[in-house]
Amino acid sequence: MARSALRIAENVPGDFFVDSSCIDCDACRLIAPTVFYDIGDQSAVYHQPESAEELLAAQRALISCPTASIGDVAKRDMRAAVASLPEPIAEDVFRCGYTSESSFGAISYYLRDSKTLVDSPRFANPLVRNIEMLGGVDRMLLTHQDDVADHEKFHERFGCQRVLHRDDIRNRTASVEVQPEGLDAVRIADDLLMIPTPGHTKGHSVFLYREKFLFTGDHLAWDPDDERLIAFRNACWYSWSEQITSMSRLLDYRFEWILPGHGRPVHLPAERMHRELERCVEWMQLK
Ligand code: SF4
Repeated sequence: MARSALRIAENVPGDFFVDSSCIDCDACRLIAPTVFYDIGDQSAVYHQPESAEELLAAQRALISCPTASIGDVAKRDMRAAVASLPEPIAEDVFRCGYTSESSFGAISYYLRDSKTLVDSPRFANPLVRNIEMLGGVDRMLLTHQDDVADHEKFHERFGCQRVLHRDDIRNRTASVEVQPEGLDAVRIADDLLMIPTPGHTKGHSVFLYREKFLFTGDHLAWDPDDERLIAFRNACWYSWSEQITSMSRLLDYRFEWILPGHGRPVHLPAERMHRELERCVEWMQLK
């Protein structure tokens, strides 16, 4: 629970605040961008929620903070925010919230029609109940070794089949049921493709859903300031040159959405997305 005694000085006066335990994961700034801002190596509140919509977003951020670093002095009723997660994005795609510290606040997603989680949220009972009401979890797709969070608990609860590339298997993921190898794309279901994208880690993969939604883990995200697709050169743990090659291979696919673990999502027409991806590859080659 956030402690007002540890309130960061950069918070504006008011009920909502961030305390000094913030690990700068960015989740609150993504979930409630009109309330939270970046102060360099942490987040703080720059605008207290005013509308009902802002309050709901701020409460979702509070719930989703991996380190419980966000507080509300007024201790308002949270039931509406709890009921609102997972949060719909488009069609049957939802953003889970409830990020985990072990995956540094990475965002995970739920695909209702195929009862699929993409990366693992925190195993929090309210979220688990809401997912159960949406249909439960038959499958868990893991983009890479860093964002596996509470995958064991979801497997125990739902008996879901987990998928992670063999090159990212570690001790805590040794029990994952499906461990594809190599660079060839793997058909997971009629509308779901696993595309290996080594670079950030050796076994990183992205997942393409309905030729529309690309779940990119830590491979690719949108930079809203420069309005361009980016990769994270300073968070590339395996090979930047391989990540460039992986990025080029994505030009063979059609999609409209980038939904990352870290960084900003974006929705663009498929033709514009293709051009932005070409631009991203050129930009990566200069980095
Ligand atoms: S979600 Fe929590 S840990 Fe992450 S940046 Fe916001 S306050 Fe910090």
